Amino acid sequence: MSNLPLARFTVERVAELRSNPDWFEKAWNSDSTRVLILHELKIPVSNELSIIWVKPGAISLSLDEAKSCALLLGADSDHTYLALMHETVALDDVTFTSLRGVGAQLSATDVGLATAATALATWHAGHQFCPGCGNATTVTMAGWSRYCAIHETEHYPRTEPAMIVAVEDLNGRILLGRRKEWPEGWLSTLAGFVEAGESCEAAVIREVYEESGIHVDLKSLQYMGSQPWPFPASLMLAYRAVATSTEVSLLDDEMTEVRWFTRDELKTACLAKTLSLPSPVSIAFRLIQHWYGEEIPMTWCRN
Ligand SMILES: [Zn+2]
Repeated sequence: MSNLPLARFTVERVAELRSNPDWFEKAWNSDSTRVLILHELKIPVSNELSIIWVKPGAISLSLDEAKSCALLLGADSDHTYLALMHETVALDDVTFTSLRGVGAQLSATDVGLATAATALATWHAGHQFCPGCGNATTVTMAGWSRYCAIHETEHYPRTEPAMIVAVEDLNGRILLGRRKEWPEGWLSTLAGFVEAGESCEAAVIREVYEESGIHVDLKSLQYMGSQPWPFPASLMLAYRAVATSTEVSLLDDEMTEVRWFTRDELKTACLAKTLSLPSPVSIAFRLIQHWYGEEIPMTWCRN
């Protein structure tokens, strides 16, 4: 599966600039720099569904204030792109939206930069202190690490791998489930975090069994693609798999309902509004659409 909404990117991350002590001053003083101002981890989006980028000159922060909360997202031949994690910088008459809500509609350039900004800013918000000594850490490497002066150690953003899988039976039906916190009618492909010391493939086998009682054939696993899911820190790794059993039994209390669907059953349930599919921004939607074999109408999906 290519072109997954949040996996799109066009701008180089220019990692070589992160350790350059002059990068920020140069970027902040340049008329071609564009800044994404984050507010409560949300992004400023116009009515036309593009990011509202501002020039550094329009932002009332001193160089030092701006540098302490700046993230270097990337650069292309036209612009250097920054994000600012500063809750006091105001943008008049601007709507701040979650990436989750608009990610599928943004351009590839905007979504790649916004996904990096959201992932980084979310990590910074939750990792202000050193896990070793509790000392407050500071932003370094142009926003790509934090430094503990007591330990003299760098701390890097963590990404948590999670697997998601379209399980099919030998008759081509797909297995969908509803988590206990979801409203009735919301179903999706099974998913779960890869545990410590576990391979992603082992996590697929384990999670499918825990959530549905269904056994999956390890040899049938087919890797389908990945996309970042920074809500807060996941990387979704998608698979297809074939089940070797069909009888569902709910072994843990994560799911309230797991069942098989034929394509006709899925269509009928969606048209009757008794089934609501995942948002088009999710990799789950793409897995279901891939299985379905044709474009799924947006009206079958939740937002
Ligand atoms: Zn420390």
